[in-house]
Amino acid sequence: MTGQSEPGRPSGRPLIGLDFGGTTIKGGVIASDGAEPICTGSAPFDQNVPSTEIYTRAAKLALELESKAGLGPAEAIGVGCAGLFNRSTGEVLASANMQNLVGTSLTDGVSKALSGRHVVIENDANVAAYGEQWLGAGLHERDLVLVTLGTGVGGGVVLEDKLFTGPGGNAGEIGHVVICQRPANSDYDAPYAKELECACGSYGCLERLVSATAVMRRAKSSGLTPDLPDLCARARETDGEERALLHQVGRDLGAGLATLITLFDVNVFAIGGGFGAALDLLKPGAEESMAERRYGTREPKIMAATLGSDAGWIGAARLSAEPS
Ligand SMILES: [Zn+2]
Repeated sequence: MTGQSEPGRPSGRPLIGLDFGGTTIKGGVIASDGAEPICTGSAPFDQNVPSTEIYTRAAKLALELESKAGLGPAEAIGVGCAGLFNRSTGEVLASANMQNLVGTSLTDGVSKALSGRHVVIENDANVAAYGEQWLGAGLHERDLVLVTLGTGVGGGVVLEDKLFTGPGGNAGEIGHVVICQRPANSDYDAPYAKELECACGSYGCLERLVSATAVMRRAKSSGLTPDLPDLCARARETDGEERALLHQVGRDLGAGLATLITLFDVNVFAIGGGFGAALDLLKPGAEESMAERRYGTREPKIMAATLGSDAGWIGAARLSAEPS
């Protein structure tokens, strides 16, 4: 991170962001000119307590962070959270790991616990992309796509220094970009064909080929170890089947990224998530595959995301400074 100020970005006030995760609410305070984070902290998230308790914990964390920073109250609080929301009411419509918040308004809940402070909500992957473009892999870049490789494939799109969410707020579902078609006729019921059916209702989504879960499945069906750290270690040691498999996974990732380039002409991809640690093994295949598919666009940069689990609250803090 840097203390440099970027032209056209707000400066002066401290910004506060919270990132609701499955077990932890992480938060921090940062200067609005993008200087180093002033302080960070966390509170436990628990699916088995009432939503009011979670909102009280979040508010308490925000107040503790403000007190630690010693810069007075922030004008608004930005919150990143996994799930689907009604953006006008802040209601959580669906969230796999936060069932106790579903049907409640997260923005109202946190706001009430903070004496009416303005609260802004955004999807966790989107705020992570916004944080990463601001102060991580996208520093000095106006455009960036974050791709997180974990149990699933998530991500977010930042274009011209602004988070791009689309009118319904659901843009950037990179994991569900289709990269291969359902086989015709007799192959329809083949085991490999079934494996590419996606929970979203589509077929051949990027997530079904390059998520950590998908790679474990692919390794197992090739007779290789499904233990990803072990698979990667073997691929780094020897130019054998493990490396060949991860090269192919990289090629599949590259096919998905090429589609994003075609749509957005973005040239910086930040790769994060737990399986993002295998980027050194995926990158050659991804670059090869993208080079075959690009159509008149610049040569893209594929980089490791650099902010890790801080990206979410940093992006949420940045979002809190924007008019809603
Ligand atoms: Zn899908």
